[in-house]
Amino acid sequence: MPPTTNIDQRLADYEQRYRKLAAELANIGLIHSGSLTRRYTRCATPGCKCHADPPQPHGPYYQWTAKVNGKTVTRRLTEQEAELYQEWIANDRRLRHLIQQMRQIAAKATELRLKQAANP
Ligand SMILES: [Zn+2]
Repeated sequence: MPPTTNIDQRLADYEQRYRKLAAELANIGLIHSGSLTRRYTRCATPGCKCHADPPQPHGPYYQWTAKVNGKTVTRRLTEQEAELYQEWIANDRRLRHLIQQMRQIAAKATELRLKQAANP
């Protein structure tokens, strides 16, 4: 098998994988930056249930945190808002992961494409 055919096949394979990732990218829902935390707290009131045995801490409290222009920004969320944020943040992570995979494949494909251009 001549080496150029091999390159053609590998390129076609990369192209196919790249297109598949691009199609997944097109289906991603809304995205949001930052991260989500769920917290339980104990208050200072003596005899409160949060100091009982076993303790029943207050919460859950949901909080969104992100860096905006180098500053940490936080926002208290309701449980319903937290569910939405969770979905959006997961979409954002998926988006970044897909782009990372596309970059890796594109790096290999462009290298092959350059070899192909050098030996037509
Ligand atoms: Zn308490």
